[in-house]
Amino acid sequence: MTPASYPTSRPSATDDDRRHVVVTGGVVSSLGKGIVSASLGFLLKERGFRVTLQKFDPYLNVDPGTMSPYQHGEVFVTDDAAETDLDLGHYERFTEQNLPGRNCVTSGQIYDAIIAKERRGEYLGKTVQVIPHVTEEIKRRLLNNARDLDAEINIVEIGGTVGDIEGLPFLEAIRQLRLELGRERVVFIHLTLVPYIKAAGELKTKPTQHSVRKLTEIGIQPDILVCRSEMPLRDELREKIALFCNVPREAVIEGVDCETIYQVPLMLHQEGLDSMVLSILRTESHRDIDLGPWEKMGTMIREPAREVEIAVVGKYTQLADAYKSMNEAFVHAGVANRVRVRIRWVESGNLEAEDFDEHLKGVHGVLVPGGFGVRGIEGMVRAVRWARELEVPFFGICLGMHCAVIEFARNACGLEGAHSTEFDPTSPHPVIDLLPDQRGEVAKGGTMRLGAHDCDVEEGSTLWKAYHAERIAERHRHRYEVNDAYRARLEASGLRVTGVHPERGLVETVEVSGHPWFLACQFHPEFRSRPRKPAPLFRDFVRAAVEYAHGQRELPGIHSKAGGGR
Ligand code: GLN
Repeated sequence: MTPASYPTSRPSATDDDRRHVVVTGGVVSSLGKGIVSASLGFLLKERGFRVTLQKFDPYLNVDPGTMSPYQHGEVFVTDDAAETDLDLGHYERFTEQNLPGRNCVTSGQIYDAIIAKERRGEYLGKTVQVIPHVTEEIKRRLLNNARDLDAEINIVEIGGTVGDIEGLPFLEAIRQLRLELGRERVVFIHLTLVPYIKAAGELKTKPTQHSVRKLTEIGIQPDILVCRSEMPLRDELREKIALFCNVPREAVIEGVDCETIYQVPLMLHQEGLDSMVLSILRTESHRDIDLGPWEKMGTMIREPAREVEIAVVGKYTQLADAYKSMNEAFVHAGVANRVRVRIRWVESGNLEAEDFDEHLKGVHGVLVPGGFGVRGIEGMVRAVRWARELEVPFFGICLGMHCAVIEFARNACGLEGAHSTEFDPTSPHPVIDLLPDQRGEVAKGGTMRLGAHDCDVEEGSTLWKAYHAERIAERHRHRYEVNDAYRARLEASGLRVTGVHPERGLVETVEVSGHPWFLACQFHPEFRSRPRKPAPLFRDFVRAAVEYAHGQRELPGIHSKAGGGR
């Protein structure tokens, strides 16, 4: 599979031409390895290279699909139905290309493959060991990925932090890779933290020195250090890091905190990261880099003309990473509408109290995102009713659509006790239910309706106005669906079904007739949103919020103050 967004004028690369950039992290987690990798991917792509990005996660889960968002944040879904680490979302957004699920590899997958092979007797009597069998499998996946996607540069991010026991096989594998392919084909970037110690009034380099020493102990000498820090590194500090960590001074790249993640590529470019990578790999840009359009987009994010406020009613509102792609989709939609979208996080449980509307008052739109489990559902249903009756723009995604249908069934169709069988298996009106093929014992991992599915769009609907297409495809991750047995009753009361799956007739979107903007979809449009190509439904929902704010005379001047937003 060759991504359509590759430059097509050049012939395929040969295996000898393919290069690998390996990104590791030290000192602490959450330094932004994913953003740095994605940013480098963007810069190299802008320089005309065919780039792909791969994430290796050392945990033993086969994929993050079975993990709570509290563990690793959102589960990102690819077109080809894989449940992956949220870093794949960053890679897709920055490089503006879709990635296959195989670009997210876990130790669980590696061991799964090795054990299956062992059971088939393919190791021919050998003792199966971490070295060489696990390391060979890691290298195989890395090399195959570059070859199968015809990438000239494969950026490989190793999850976790140097020093983690479970990360060792990956580090050993990349050490061997460098030995086998040489320095001109494998470059090591190491991300570290240079903390500021208030009491001393100084930035400290020791954690970086220790982390690099840990790497060199296992035979990896990083070529480039990206030093994350709250403030710029002075020259002496760069020199000190260079000396102690055995890298040239120019290879000490400063990574200060940016106002938005979309500034990171610009900063890294200014610091010379992309040219340094190319010079180590002894290759040259295929074209001059023009960051003008990207810069313009960044300016729009930082200096919008106005602001709207959207309530996001969910149950993981304490953890922004749980809704990563949605947050980014709002940023992209904000750029398209020249506004900043400020998110008001509303814990759905709080809407179960009498004075629930206090939590919603003043917002210009309500979004109920995807989720699992019964906690907070009644609060979400209340938020839907509030938005529907007060004609506040409403957007429901996946579980949000289930809540919208439940609310409409109960309060507009008079179907008392209407519910989803996910939350009330004995509901007299199961308006949301499992598909027949999901009934019975179903294993949890990888068994949902996943990945991109087609949806036929009804002309003239809000959905149609957003996409201007008869057929669209968006990504799914769910088990429950609108129950077809109730469709006619819902429609008779004014719930329009405007999107359906072409072959199976499944309800993909619903809209409320007569409401200025009320749309709920079974799919997750946020996964395909790009900074310069926002998800059409997010774009139009934000536009509706802007119009609503105008109608309330709230927009001019009032909400144009700076700050906030995500
Ligand atoms: N819990 C619901 C289901 O499984 C919705 C899932 C979601 O919102 N992603 O169908």
